Amino acid sequence: MPKKNGVVERKKFLALMRKRLEAMRAQLANEVDQELKSKREENKDEGMDTYDLASEERAQELSSILSDREVSKIREIEDALERLDEGTYGICASCGMEIAEARLEAMPFTRLCRDCQQDYERKERAQRRLEDDRFTYRRLETPENDEENT
Ligand SMILES: [Zn+2]
Repeated sequence: MPKKNGVVERKKFLALMRKRLEAMRAQLANEVDQELKSKREENKDEGMDTYDLASEERAQELSSILSDREVSKIREIEDALERLDEGTYGICASCGMEIAEARLEAMPFTRLCRDCQQDYERKERAQRRLEDDRFTYRRLETPENDEENT
């Protein structure tokens, strides 16, 4: 039985995902804020007025507080929201099919449908094997590089 309101359902679902992503971003921003505040308190004890920091220094301050994981998560959320705006969210970047809702719920940042993801991972594994092989050959071909062996 074909779903007559499939497009409407999809729109509802995407609106739901947007809310989830925005909530994630708000929560992350909140955490970052807390960390920044507590760090500023520490600095105040050392007699530093961090509010006078130039924006570049503030950016550095931010990156010193945020882990790479947090930074990449923020970026992923921003990316996903951008794709929601563009209307490309939830569409496989490889084959152009709609990504299943269950998959998007489990992995809100994914750009590939399950099939393409598996395909991609297979290729990546093969690529890595190829690079490992090349690396081994290179090492065998350069015996003068014996620093690591001592
Ligand atoms: Zn696909």
